Amino acid sequence: RAKKDGPGRVLVYEPYMHAEALDRLSLRGDLQRALREGEFRLQYQPLVRLADGVAAGVEALIRWHSPARGFVSPVDFIPVAEEFGMIVDIGQWALESSAVQVARWRRDFPELGLNVNVSGHQLVHPRFADNVMRALAIAGLPSSAVTLELTESVLMSEPDLGKAALHALRGLGVQLSIDDFGTGYSSLAYLRELPVDELKIDRAFIARAELTGEDLALVRTIVELAQILGLRVVAEGIENAAQLDALRRLGCGYGQGYHLCRPADPEDVPTRLGRALVH
Ligand code: C2E
Ligand code: MG
Ligand code: MG
Ligand code: MG
Repeated sequence: RAKKDGPGRVLVYEPYMHAEALDRLSLRGDLQRALREGEFRLQYQPLVRLADGVAAGVEALIRWHSPARGFVSPVDFIPVAEEFGMIVDIGQWALESSAVQVARWRRDFPELGLNVNVSGHQLVHPRFADNVMRALAIAGLPSSAVTLELTESVLMSEPDLGKAALHALRGLGVQLSIDDFGTGYSSLAYLRELPVDELKIDRAFIARAELTGEDLALVRTIVELAQILGLRVVAEGIENAAQLDALRRLGCGYGQGYHLCRPADPEDVPTRLGRALVH
């Protein structure tokens, strides 16, 4: 495995990594071609307001069907794209395409928001704020409609740089979200200083929310924390009615998950907007 401390650090390969390094190099070539040939697609998963079941926004999720490899999960190719410096271009493509798409849907659903996942490598890129504004200008999407999702681990790996970049973005009017919240180690003090608008509770906690008292208590604590800090809170990975009920009882504002709506191809999204996805 390549050694890397955080975004933008130098990679160090050692001999025993050879086989894996070879595969990563061929994956690198395939990813470059994928971007050039337009092999990436986006699916969209609604963020559902739990009070009325209506989609308040959609999260863009990248998909890659490689002619050579078949479907490759973003969990597998995003880290490689980060290591080889391609994530900035891939992330920019995802931001621009999803912004264009959501601007179109907003003609019928004017309140619809867009959540986009952002890599730490994008965040610390000196032109990231410019890149975001350029994508939104091309799409004609107001910055207030956009929430950028960053993981806790990314923010912790570059606390000062990350914080400065977040303030710059916030100043442009985009909203910020901490994805997979609860899996990192951010301190309460640090969280309080971050200019964020939303916490997304990692699905590892939700998966067992209806079963064990401890996970339920953790989720309750995060929901209360969000309320104290004045943040929106989204539960990820809601897979059944019991989890949904538990989250509603805790006062969790928003949810995502297969039980509410699976990630969908763009042509299937409009029928899921504007009506309750759950009752
Ligand atoms: P994430 O941002 O935390 O996205 C949530 C993941 O959970 C998605 O996986 C989604 O399909 C999945 N999911 C949604 N509901 C459920 C559920 O009820 N149960 C379960 N088991 N899973 C559910 P996906 O699409 O494979 O994406 C994985 C990760 O890849 C994302 O995690 C995000 O970190 C990253 N990613 C996806 N698209 C992009 C992108 O455009 N840019 C960047 N930088 N990262 C991306
Ligand atoms: Mg996300
Ligand atoms: Mg997540
Ligand atoms: Mg995740």
